[in-house]
Amino acid sequence: MPPPKNTNDEVVRVNFDFRRALAEKVEGNLAGFCYQCGACVGDCPAATYSSVFNPREIMLKVLYGLGEELLVEDSVLWLCTNCYNCHERCPQDVKPVEVIISLKNMLADRGIYPNAVEKIIRTFEETGRTTPISAAVERNREKYGLPPLSPVPMDEIHALLEPAESEGESA
Ligand code: SF4
Ligand code: SF4
Repeated sequence: MPPPKNTNDEVVRVNFDFRRALAEKVEGNLAGFCYQCGACVGDCPAATYSSVFNPREIMLKVLYGLGEELLVEDSVLWLCTNCYNCHERCPQDVKPVEVIISLKNMLADRGIYPNAVEKIIRTFEETGRTTPISAAVERNREKYGLPPLSPVPMDEIHALLEPAESEGESA
């Protein structure tokens, strides 16, 4: 990918405000170590099945500070499956998946996330789990000799969520 240009064919300056904001997230500063080898792409299921998703290009956009191309409605970021193959492959310990998670968190801070993610959030708030536990799940656990799941300490979950909940109320 060549350096980004604007419509007047001038080179666009790196948006360091975006990079600084990303660096404040967990592992958000790691893209700075990316040397664009592309090793993260080969085993990426999202890149295999989508022509618009490429973790190397996402790291390059971060390096260029092109946050506004990533932090949009219907962002390609949500195509990442969080499989961590890129983390295993990267020779620079960039942890592309962690950078992508940080970018997703920036989107969520703006209130932008797919319905499926909203559903997971609601399930977590209500049950303390990201997936509802059905009788079928319990039966399968028994079949494989696993103990029943322990009850979730919901008071602890709500105590952990409290700062985010009060932020949401005051927003
Ligand atoms: S494998 Fe690591 S260094 Fe190579 S392009 Fe991907 S993130 Fe960058
Ligand atoms: S974690 Fe995301 S970016 Fe990394 S290999 Fe898996 S799908 Fe691709």
